[in-house]
Amino acid sequence: MKKLIFATAIHFLCFSWFLAQQKAPEFKTKYVFILVIDGPRYAETYGEPTCKYSPLLCDSLKKEGTFYAQFKNNGPTYTVPGHTAIVTGTYQRISNAGTALPKQPNIFQYFLKNTGLDSSAAYVVASKGKLDVLVNTSQKKWNNQYIASTYCGPNGNGLGYGRDDKTFAKVTELVKSENPPQLMLINLLAVDVYGHANNWDKYLESITQSDKYAAQLWQMIQQNPVLKDQTTLLITNDHGRHLDGVRSGFVNHGCRCEGCRHISLLVLGPDTPKGKIVNEEAEMIDISKTIAEIYRFQMPTSKGNFLLDAFPAGQ
Ligand SMILES: [Zn+2]
Ligand SMILES: [Zn+2]
Repeated sequence: MKKLIFATAIHFLCFSWFLAQQKAPEFKTKYVFILVIDGPRYAETYGEPTCKYSPLLCDSLKKEGTFYAQFKNNGPTYTVPGHTAIVTGTYQRISNAGTALPKQPNIFQYFLKNTGLDSSAAYVVASKGKLDVLVNTSQKKWNNQYIASTYCGPNGNGLGYGRDDKTFAKVTELVKSENPPQLMLINLLAVDVYGHANNWDKYLESITQSDKYAAQLWQMIQQNPVLKDQTTLLITNDHGRHLDGVRSGFVNHGCRCEGCRHISLLVLGPDTPKGKIVNEEAEMIDISKTIAEIYRFQMPTSKGNFLLDAFPAGQ
C-alpha cells in the first residue's frame, strides 16, 4: 500500500512539473509599442459602416491582427485617467490637467525594474505635454524610481500641446534607430482637439490622418531589422466621445455613455492571430497585464486580465 501511495505521489509530482513547464510560454515579442489615438468615437472609426475615415486600420491592418470589437474604458473617460488606466492597470480619478501623479506604479516602472535596462528602453512620446505624469507614481515605494524617458508636448518638456506631425517625427527617429525603445507609448492628439473645437470636418480628417500614422508606424517597424517580426503593436484609444443626443455629442466626452466608453483595440505582432475578431468585452486595464506576461514578470497592482485571444500561446 505504502509503495502505491509513494508511486502515486511521484506520478503526481512529475505531472505537476510537466504542467509547470507547459505554463511558461515563449513569446516572439521582444518590443511592445502602444499607439493611443486620442478620443475618436467608435461610430466614426471601425463602427462606421463603410469604414471610410479609417480605411487602413479597418482593412489591411485589421486583417494582419486581432481586433477587439468590444473594447472599453470602464473608468473616467478623460485623457489622463484613460492613459493612466492603460499604463497602471487600474482605474482612478486623477486630475486631467497633469497636476497629480497616478496612485499606482506603471508598466514602464515594472519593466525597467525587472529587466535592469536603462531609462531609454522605455519611452512615452506624446503630443500632450501633461502625459509625462504617466511614468511616475505617488506610491511611496515606487515614487521617482525606474522612470521611463519621455518626450511629451511640443518641446518634449511636458508642457503644452504639440502637433502630431512633430510627435510622429520623434517616434520615427526612435523607431528607425539601431537601438529602439523596447516598450513605448505614443499619444496623438488631433482627433480630440478638433472634436473639442466643434470642427466636424477636421475631426474626421484627423481620424484619417491617424489611420495613416498607424499604418506608417507598422511599416517602419517591419523595415527595421531589429524590430521586424519581434514587435507587437497595440492600437487603441484613451476614451471615445458622447453619443449624438448625449450632452454636446462629439464635441466632448467624460461620462459613462456608450460613446465615451466604447473604444477599440487592434493587436498586430508575431504572437497574434491574423484576421481574428473578438466580440467578448475586454478593457484598457488588460493591456498592462498582458505586457507584463509577455515579458514574464509579475504586475500585482494591475487589475486587468491577460488578452488571451491576441496571445493564444499564453494559455
Ligand atoms: Zn478631450
Ligand atoms: Zn458620454
